[in-house]
Amino acid sequence: MPIDATLPYDSGNIFARILRGEIPAKTVYEDEHALAFHDIAPQAPAHILVIPKGAYVSWDDFSARASDTEIAGFVRAVGHVARAAGMVKPGYRLLANTGPAGGQEVPHLHVHIFAGRLLGPMLAQRGEP
Ligand code: 5GP
Repeated sequence: MPIDATLPYDSGNIFARILRGEIPAKTVYEDEHALAFHDIAPQAPAHILVIPKGAYVSWDDFSARASDTEIAGFVRAVGHVARAAGMVKPGYRLLANTGPAGGQEVPHLHVHIFAGRLLGPMLAQRGEP
């Protein structure tokens, strides 16, 4: 169910629970600003989620409220994860769904990293789901 990205942060969301270690995740990288783990329902041969450690609902919330240090740390973490996974030469795709029209389902900012095959058109064609 897509979420309203303008709502206040809900600390009970699934990614907040992963950050607190309450539920498991297949972690691939962690530093003071970010955590990266495999998506539970991968949509490409490689599908990694990178989340900031701070409490931000969405890309909109993060870009408006996060400090320059948090933003730099998060962006560098995304790049590091892709490089470490060998995705740079074959190529990869980043995606940050935001709000209902973007199809965001988890109300904690996450950047998807997709790789491992030709990823096709950037958006589903008209008439496709
Ligand atoms: P969104 O649609 O919000 O951009 O993407 C949410 C993503 O989180 C989906 O790709 C979904 O498969 C993933 N996801 C949802 N719950 C869990 C979970 O408990 N663990 C992991 N690793 N991924 C999850």
